[in-house]
Amino acid sequence: MNILDLQNNYRKIVETIPSTVTLVAVSKYQPSEAVEVLYRLGQRVFGESHVQELTKKHELLPQDIQWHFIGHLQTNKVKYIAPYITMVESVDSIRLIEEINKQALKCNRIIDILLELHIAQEETKYGLTPEECRELLQSDSFRSCQNVRVRGLMTIASNVDDDQQVQREFQLASDTFNAIKTEFFQDKPWFDCCSWGMSSDYPLAIAHGSNMVRVGTSIFGERQYK
Ligand SMILES: *Cc1c(COP(=O)(O)O)cnc(C)c1O
Repeated sequence: MNILDLQNNYRKIVETIPSTVTLVAVSKYQPSEAVEVLYRLGQRVFGESHVQELTKKHELLPQDIQWHFIGHLQTNKVKYIAPYITMVESVDSIRLIEEINKQALKCNRIIDILLELHIAQEETKYGLTPEECRELLQSDSFRSCQNVRVRGLMTIASNVDDDQQVQREFQLASDTFNAIKTEFFQDKPWFDCCSWGMSSDYPLAIAHGSNMVRVGTSIFGERQYK
C-alpha cells in the first residue's frame, strides 16, 4: 500500500472512533515502514501476534511504541517480550499468567494483561468462558501472582455476516465485564479495558461497550504473508 492511502485510512478511522476508545493498530505481517508512517502521525499503540516478528520490530522501531501482544502466546516465549511488552491481551490460562508473573518479576515489572473471553460460536477460538474467568480469578495461584495486573477483558466475535449475532456477543462481553468488575475489581480503577472490535466489526463493538479496538486491515490493507 502506498503511504498516502495508509495515511488516509488511518485518519478516517481515528475520526470515527471516540477519543475515549484506544486504537490498537494491528501491524502483524505488515512492514516496519508502515508502522513508522503511523508513528509519525502520532499513533503509539500497536498490536502484534507473533513473538519473532514483534522482537524484530521492537528492536528496529522507536522505543516509546506501546506494544500489545494479541496472539496466542506460548509460555516458553514469554521471556522474550517480558522486558518491554505494554499489555498481553490474549491470556487464557493460569499457566500463562504464572509464566508472565515469573518473567515480570525477573524484569522488576508489573505486566498488564487482559483475560481472553470465549464467546464466539467457533470452536477453534481460544479463550475462557465467563465461568472459567471467575474460577481463575478466585484461585490461589492467581492471587499469588503479584506482578501481573488484570486490566480487563478481550474477545473476538464470531466471523459471520449476521450483525445481530455479533451484537449479541459484544453485549455478552460487556455484561460479563461489568459483572466481573463488580465481583472482583470493585475498588480497582485499573480494571477498565474492554477490548473488542476489529476491522469488520469495530463500530458495533464500540456501540456495545468496547473502549479498545484492534484494527489491522482497515488501516494497513491486506496482510503481507510471505
Ligand atoms: C489480526 C487480529 C486483529 C486485526 O484484524 P483485522 O481484521 O485485520 O482488523 C485483531 N485482533 C486479533 C486478536 C487479531 O489476531
